[in-house]
Amino acid sequence: MVSVSASVFEPRFYERRAQRQLAALAGIPVWINVPWGLTGNPASRPEVDAIWVRSGRAVAAEVKAHQVDAAEAGEITEKYRHLGFRELMIMAPGFTPSASRSLALTRYPAVEQVPFSPDPSEIAGFYQGGWQEGVPAWVHDALATGLHHVRFVLTQPTAKGRFVIGLPRTRIYHAGTITRAIGTLPSPPARVLWTPQRFTIPRDAIARGSRLTALGGYVAVDIDGDRMHRADHACQLKPGAGGCPHCLPRAERELRRLDAQIAHPPWTDVLLSGGRGIHAYLPDDGEVRGLVVAAAEAGARIDVSVTASLRTTIALPGTLHAANGQPVASRVRPAPGERPLAAAC
Ligand SMILES: [Zn+2]
Repeated sequence: MVSVSASVFEPRFYERRAQRQLAALAGIPVWINVPWGLTGNPASRPEVDAIWVRSGRAVAAEVKAHQVDAAEAGEITEKYRHLGFRELMIMAPGFTPSASRSLALTRYPAVEQVPFSPDPSEIAGFYQGGWQEGVPAWVHDALATGLHHVRFVLTQPTAKGRFVIGLPRTRIYHAGTITRAIGTLPSPPARVLWTPQRFTIPRDAIARGSRLTALGGYVAVDIDGDRMHRADHACQLKPGAGGCPHCLPRAERELRRLDAQIAHPPWTDVLLSGGRGIHAYLPDDGEVRGLVVAAAEAGARIDVSVTASLRTTIALPGTLHAANGQPVASRVRPAPGERPLAAAC
């Protein structure tokens, strides 16, 4: 008997892993998270999780991070019938017997049921290996202060249904403590997050009502390339690739614009986020956060909420973006003699 939680995954983690699996099955590049239809409000426009062409026909895929039951199966087929697709693939950790029967009988669209569960051992293996060597020196130094906080986004929920686990009573002084904490988690982490800002006690970062004592640290800038190209086209995944090849070049272009806007700030590091673009860090001198926020107000296309909040959490450099299978790595702007990473985000 499989427990309920074994058939539920963190939705964003599962979606990207499923899309990568779909690209592998299709054997050709697939478009992902495609807004469908030209009318209506962009926010409420239906989104198709993946689309590709097979034998001259567009095939749509719907991804669900939990077991699909009969009622949901009906809603999904109704959605794609309405959108005009004749072929549909549904990828989910499982299907109830009644969902499976009704999907097998559906003719329009014709439905392929594809059960899929990501392999957690790949992630566990990454953290059992030499991942700490990929943590930049400045991050090791920052962790040594014991004033940065770390939390984990799990690939599968805890028994109480939670996907995020903090370490409210643990001070982290080095990456080894993170490795040990990962070994005790109920499922491998989809993301390992940290606060670039320093805090006196771990509770400060979590309790919203408490008076905040920020002690300096770093200002994080998050630049997602998909913002820049989604007006023209959706993201694309090639078989075997971690992410969309169009995202990183767009994010780099936006970073250069930001450089010009705030007169070449002294970046501590510019990293490949492992996802859709770039995570860049500036030393917090008390003023630079305001400069970056002002640049965003003047049109810089960054995720300003990440920069503006003192309590922000963002992927710890050197950790794995498990959905894409890529680490958060330095070298978007390589040091002399270092090779830049391939432009895959
Ligand atoms: Zn993209």
